[in-house]
This record gives sequence, C-alpha cells and structure tokens, in this order.
Amino acid sequence: FVDDEDNEDAARIHVAARFRPRLGKSFAEKAQSRWRREQSLSLIHDGQRRFLFDHVFGSTHCNAEVSSKVGVRIVEKVLDGYNGTIFAYGQSGSGKTHTMSASGGLVEFCVMALFSGVARLKAASHICVSSWEVHNERIIDLFADESSHEGDEGDEDLRGATRDQTLRIRGDDCIKGSPTIEGLQEFQVHSSRETLGLLASADARRHWRETSSGPRSSRSHTFVRLSVHEPAPEGGAPSASSLLLVDLAASERSGQAEGEALLEGSHMNRSLLALREVVSSLTASQLQQQYVPYRNSLLTRILRQSLGGNAFTSIICTASDAAEDDLETETTLVFGSLCR
Ligand code: ADP
Ligand code: MG
Repeated sequence: FVDDEDNEDAARIHVAARFRPRLGKSFAEKAQSRWRREQSLSLIHDGQRRFLFDHVFGSTHCNAEVSSKVGVRIVEKVLDGYNGTIFAYGQSGSGKTHTMSASGGLVEFCVMALFSGVARLKAASHICVSSWEVHNERIIDLFADESSHEGDEGDEDLRGATRDQTLRIRGDDCIKGSPTIEGLQEFQVHSSRETLGLLASADARRHWRETSSGPRSSRSHTFVRLSVHEPAPEGGAPSASSLLLVDLAASERSGQAEGEALLEGSHMNRSLLALREVVSSLTASQLQQQYVPYRNSLLTRILRQSLGGNAFTSIICTASDAAEDDLETETTLVFGSLCR
C-alpha cells in the first residue's frame, strides 16, 4: 500500500528494522548471527531470504539516530496537517519500549520536535496530549486520574477506580481522522517539559498498577497521542492533525498460560493477528478491491486511518540477532516487509 507516485518520499508507510545490541556477549558469540545487515541498502538477509526496509538500524545506532531518521518525517507531516503514526512491533525484550520511550526515545524526540515546529510555523496553534492502553480488548485512560495536572494527587483508591473504567471508540470506525475515544482525558499542554512530565507520571502509575497483577507492559498496547489544533481561518472551520505513538504488545505467541495470563495472551494474539490480516489484505487490495477486516480488534479500529487512510506511518520492527530468537526475528521481518 504505497502512494500512487513512485517517489519514495511519497510512500505513506515506511518500515524500519532495528536490531538490539547483544549486551554482555563476547565478540565471537556476537559474530555468529544468522542475519546479515547491509545498512546502505537497507537490506537484511540470511543468504537465502532477503528483507528490504526503508531503514536498517543495528547495535551501533542509538535512540537519537533512530528518532531523527524516523521521527522527523512524521513530525513534518503532522505540521503539514496530516495525521502521523509511529509504532514499534516485535517480540518481548527486542527494544520496543526502549525505542518509543518518553525519556530518551521517540516519544521524547517527537514531543520536542512538535513543540519547536509549532512555535516556528504555527504559533497560533495549540497542542493537546492524551494517553491510553488497550488491554484485553478494553481501552484504559492512562490520564484518567490526572484530574488537574497541577500536582493534585488525590485518593489512591479513587484513582484506581477511575482508571479501571474502560472507554469506547465513538460511532463506527475512525475512517477519516484520528479515533474519537469517548471520555478520554485530553490535556492542553504548553511546553515539551510539561508534556513529558505528564507522560512520565502516567508511566509511573502504570508500573504501580502492574505490581498487583504481575507485569503487563508487554501484554498491552500503549498509545500516546499529540494533537495540533489550528484556529479557524476567517469563515472556515478549525482543523487538527494528530501524531499517534504506539508501543505494541509483544508479538510472540504466549506459551503455557493459565487464567488471567491466558486471557491476556489470547487477546494479544488476536489483536496482532488482526493487525497482520489488515496489513495483508491492504497489500492484496492494491491489486483488487477487497474487504479489509479492521473491525476484528480494537487495535485495528484505532489504527485504521494509520494503515489504510491518508495518514503517514512509520513502523519500527525491533528484533534480536541472537540464535535463540531466529524464528521470532524472521516472523518480525516478514511482517515488516509485508507492510511496505
Ligand atoms: P520490549 O519493550 O520490546 O519488550 P525493551 O525495550 O523493554 O523491550 O528492552 C528490553 C531490555 O533491553 C531493556 O532493558 C532495554 O533497555 C534494553 N534494550 C533494548 N533495546 C536496546 C538498545 N537498542 N540499546 C540498548 N539497550 C536496549
Ligand atoms: Mg515493552
């Protein structure tokens, strides 16, 4: 699903692959990898299969390099009035959260770049932020208890209660714009510092919540949305464009699991399966008009416009080149190359 024009920059969807470093491994161990990276060609191969990307990052590339290669294009599109999306896809431990992080990763980079771009080009506009997660096919507002984001902490029990309210996407699917999630808290923010502070406290509360039912960071999809609101021109309507940053749940199939973990695993697998199905039918529908199954999961309903609309999207496929991860890495590379 590329743009009509052949111009590479016009492609709506870019896909990058990022291999995490193998910390603590000897040079000899590191050398034994199935995967060969041709950075200049953005190619990854194992002597048989070849996977082509828009960017390939290896262990020598830090977050700043990844962010500037991937983030700048999307932030510029958002400043041009388009919707933009960046999401990280990969097995657990491959570096999705590291890559997307609001402290040192893409979320931080994009917040800073968006504020400086708005100050430079659109001083009359304002920026709003919201953040939520999708866990077991439910939307949970990560700012739900952030009643006034001036430091009013409130009562612990009450905060837990409000946070557990699940939200719904308004109306049918979000075909034209960014999804409208009923009741989602959205804050107008005035600086990148204020925004990153809000996101850090949402993250801290998320970890606090995790301790009661075990870690769930890799079992839920986490979203940060930054929207730029332009005042109405004379006689016109106000407009908004948004930037959606997503840290997806781990892509691997969960193994043996029971109870809550089994339920989480089946929801995760189902939503990522739905994502793969949407991507493959979009690829197929380049050739023929075909039904695209967006409605099979909340994740694909939320990402509908990012994948099939006229938004600009970058996907970062995170992977490991350790031998024990070969199978998952291959699955991730297959997904990534299918998206282009
Ligand atoms: P995921 O979110 O995909 O499960 P994480 O981002 O939590 O994986 O990464 C697992 C661990 O590996 C973390 O401690 C993280 O800091 C580290 N890590 C991941 N990618 C990198 C990288 N490119 N450079 C350095 N450390 C990394
Ligand atoms: Mg993670």
